[in-house]
Amino acid sequence: MAAAVPDGSVSVVLLSGGVGKRFGASIPKQYVELVGRPIATYSMETFSKMPAVSEIVVVCEEEWRSVFEDEHARLGRLKPISFAKPGAERQDSVYNGFAAISPDAELVAIHDSARPMVTAEETLQCAEQAMEVGAATLGVKCKPTIKEVDQNGRVVKTLDRSKLMEIHTPQIIRPALLKEGFEAVKRDGLEVTDDVSIIEQIGKPVQIVEGSYENLKVTTPEDLDVATGFLRARGVVGGSN
Ligand code: C5P
Repeated sequence: MAAAVPDGSVSVVLLSGGVGKRFGASIPKQYVELVGRPIATYSMETFSKMPAVSEIVVVCEEEWRSVFEDEHARLGRLKPISFAKPGAERQDSVYNGFAAISPDAELVAIHDSARPMVTAEETLQCAEQAMEVGAATLGVKCKPTIKEVDQNGRVVKTLDRSKLMEIHTPQIIRPALLKEGFEAVKRDGLEVTDDVSIIEQIGKPVQIVEGSYENLKVTTPEDLDVATGFLRARGVVGGSN
């Protein structure tokens, strides 16, 4: 089952407030160039072209706003954009972005700007499930074997791979549900690692929508080569680039 997603019903929170230490560049990884333009501008373009999306709230440090303003201009100001300040942890950045969305939003879609390859089709599928269930996230079946280990590195057990999913973004949630979740997190001092975990913590269902392995998070420099290969296969970049 999936519910229709009306045009203009989704507010996007584009997370771009991290420093990306593991990447090892002098600037945060989401601003590193991928085939001639900053990584973060790819998903901004994808969301800007979706009829379901009404606005994009970018969570970034002030010094990086021009990256998004320039992209906004390049796209012909397709969708309104606004800015929110990052917080200490990812979750704090989500909170700040969420606080800045339109009160009319029927869904909020939270996306890591370090995932440039996300498509409009998979985002829409995820939004349809979020409309139906309340919360949904893109994910893929886990490829590697995962073992639980103790503090000494000794194997406790091997997890059943058929039950494991690797979680991507966007994570799309009904605003009232996310608000309730944030209130519970604050009240009970809960620990959460991603956005839909907040929803799990309050005992509400979360739907996983199987997406693509191409929706990778650029984390280390070799991920850039992989993303370039995907863009080439999509015809976004020529063979000589
Ligand atoms: O570090 P990691 O890749 O897990 O971050 C996921 C996303 O969250 C990135 O897009 C990053 O810019 C964002 N983030 C943020 N504020 C933080 C930490 C991370 O917006 N304090």
